[in-house]
Amino acid sequence: MSEKYYRDTIVDVDLAAIGHNYKAVSGMHPDKTFIAVIKANAYGLGSTAVAEYLSHIGVDFFAVGTLDEAVELRMHGIREKILILGPIRPEDMNKAIKHRIAVTAPSYEWLKRAEQAIEDDDGKGVWVHIKVNSGMNRLGVSNIKEVNQMIALIEASPYLTYEGLFSHLSSAEVDSERPFKEYGTFKSIISQVKKPQFVHVQNSAGAFHLEADECNAMRIGLSLYGYYPSDFIAGISPVELKPSVGLVTHVVDTHVLQEGEGVSYGLKYIADEKVTIATLPIGYADGFLRSRTGYKVALEDGTSCPVVGTVCMDYIMIRVPDHVELGDKVHIITPKRHSAQSMESYSDYVDTIPYESMCKLGRRLPRIYHGTDGSRISNEVLK
Ligand SMILES: *Cc1c(COP(=O)(O)O)cnc(C)c1O
Repeated sequence: MSEKYYRDTIVDVDLAAIGHNYKAVSGMHPDKTFIAVIKANAYGLGSTAVAEYLSHIGVDFFAVGTLDEAVELRMHGIREKILILGPIRPEDMNKAIKHRIAVTAPSYEWLKRAEQAIEDDDGKGVWVHIKVNSGMNRLGVSNIKEVNQMIALIEASPYLTYEGLFSHLSSAEVDSERPFKEYGTFKSIISQVKKPQFVHVQNSAGAFHLEADECNAMRIGLSLYGYYPSDFIAGISPVELKPSVGLVTHVVDTHVLQEGEGVSYGLKYIADEKVTIATLPIGYADGFLRSRTGYKVALEDGTSCPVVGTVCMDYIMIRVPDHVELGDKVHIITPKRHSAQSMESYSDYVDTIPYESMCKLGRRLPRIYHGTDGSRISNEVLK
């Protein structure tokens, strides 16, 4: 991770806010093990830095989406427990064993193949979490007989340890009976099979929506970063989450357009009077989608300025007051919930959700981590 960077467009990550959110969400379910979901590079924020910070404040269990992500964490010195939330290739079990990673078994067939693929576990063994389908119909086992066959296979194997039983809710973020129904399905399975060390069903929305008192762990992603999975969840939340992400840039050039002159590819914006345009060094390559023309960014004094013309790969242009000059700071996303530049507004503008906007924060954007003890810079491009 390089500490240097040469373009003034950066993602500010407020680690103290993440710490606040961890305490707030774990406080709602103090008896449950907190599994911090840091898949997809910790939702774009940088999985190693986020994991290091979280382990420092007491998190000892992480979840990721792929074996590659788990290995990446190990290569960067993360020693805490790691669960991969979906199936890996059966033949990659040896890699999971080597790196001491817990795996998810979505079916008897997968489990059988995975067990057969193990060459030599060197006495290490591998932890297995059985995935139950409770209505999402994406991954997992639906009937009790198959769950029991899987438990029997695990217990008969010299390599496998039955460590977890979990499910994922299809609609925890909406105001409906659906999550209760799916939890009921999961609960009925739990009650009829042998219980492992960890039983978990809640994602962020589930943690706000359900008690899930048959579960002793929960898997929290989005709300750790300070965002509610939906307005409904924000409305029922007993805690105040702190947004952790800012996206900031600086003016690199300005132009005065006379009436009738245009800007950017295709000259799709034509000045209807004399206007000043500022060019910002961020584009769709950084996750600022082409459909964000018209989105309003904010100057340091709070003035909001619309993006005009076509979004380029490396640049956007905004219409500004005429005093704006080279080097002026511009806020594209602010870590405030009720602002025109909130992560929610930034997402709504292009009909998406904070999850997706965060994952799209490009690799070219250095992440600057602000913690309780100063700042740390990570630039993937120069690492
Ligand atoms: C991503 C994911 C989570 C975390 O979801 P959030 O809504 O971000 O809290 C939990 N469980 C599974 C299986 C996931 O894929």
